[in-house]
Amino acid sequence: MEALEPSATLAMAARAQAMAADGIDVVDLSVGEPDFPTPDHVCRAAETAIRAGKTKYTPAAGIPDLRKAVAADYTKRTGIPVTPQQVVVSNGAKHALHNVFTAVIDEGDEVIVPTPYWVSYAELIKLAGGRPVLLPTRLEDDFKLRPEQLRAAITPATRMLLLCSPSNPTGVVYSPEELGALADVAIAANLSVVSDEIYDQLVYDGRKAVSFPTLRPGLADRTIVVAGVSKTYSMTGWRIGWTIAPEPLSKAIANLQSQETSNPSSVSQHAAVAAVTGPQDCVAEMCRAFQKRRDLVAARLAAMPGVRLPQIGGAFYAFFAIPGPRTSMQWCEQLLEKEHVALVPGSAFGAEGHVRMSFAASEAKLEDGLSRIERFIRG
Ligand code: PMP
Ligand code: GLU
Repeated sequence: MEALEPSATLAMAARAQAMAADGIDVVDLSVGEPDFPTPDHVCRAAETAIRAGKTKYTPAAGIPDLRKAVAADYTKRTGIPVTPQQVVVSNGAKHALHNVFTAVIDEGDEVIVPTPYWVSYAELIKLAGGRPVLLPTRLEDDFKLRPEQLRAAITPATRMLLLCSPSNPTGVVYSPEELGALADVAIAANLSVVSDEIYDQLVYDGRKAVSFPTLRPGLADRTIVVAGVSKTYSMTGWRIGWTIAPEPLSKAIANLQSQETSNPSSVSQHAAVAAVTGPQDCVAEMCRAFQKRRDLVAARLAAMPGVRLPQIGGAFYAFFAIPGPRTSMQWCEQLLEKEHVALVPGSAFGAEGHVRMSFAASEAKLEDGLSRIERFIRG
């Protein structure tokens, strides 16, 4: 426990909130959380569920309606047949990841994680007894892992590859060809793959995210897809995520969950059914708003001296190289002190020399934050 790092994203958000509570005008662009309200029809479904007495334990793996809805939606979007038994609903995608690592990883197993990586991956893998093998990617390559790099990192202890596209923290989206090339290496080395697809519906410029199992025949047998409602439907506080995995593994995950946490909130599950099966125009609308913000943020950051960033194709993060000799932590501390803007240091994502800015905030707040960042940089 002493070796366990706290979540840097949540820690930074807590600091910004504490400053705001002291009356300081803070622009908090740290945590990745959509600023939109949860769609009204989803909230109404939750109210109805409460009134109908859906307030008791549910099956540990989730209510049948939600498992069915997630399976049907995934099949509709990807063409991959998925049974409800392959879906286990958890307390957010973070919990889903914990379940997967705990169920699959044996003591000492290596899990390949391209960096920059989302903060919780390495700690969750270590908690499960695994060894995260961090493979650095380069801004010049748009922070994408290359197949030859993956091949060279595989050892007899390698058990799993972890991918996240669209990526938190970089916003980068792999092309189907790039993912297919990584899939070939994973198949040849008989690796399991965890594909974190929590941002799969937040992709810009008319492109669509591809789900990893669609890339090669048989990939679904070795892939665990992690997703949820947090980002797509602006439902971070409801705590609903899930895994889509082969049935035997799903059963193991359900057993684990039944001992550790029982079911995720019954009310939230009913709300999630409404989100997944209801009208999807709210998603398109939020996606359009994020794209507009992406345009604003990418253009203004790129014009700042010494700032470099990759093509942001999805999610809601700008991950940029910072000018000057300071560590990313020092840079973020000073930015917070001087200009009251909260970002997250790249070191938390395994990429020193960079910082992450969330653009899940209003355009006015982003303009304000960007002006402060620019003033800080021009200092
Ligand atoms: N994976 C990634 C890449 C994320 O950005 C997040 C955001 N918190 C999660 C998983 C966890 O999502 P949740 O809030 O549903 O636990
Ligand atoms: N995924 C979000 C982020 O990266 C939420 C924070 C967290 O869950 O750690 O900011």
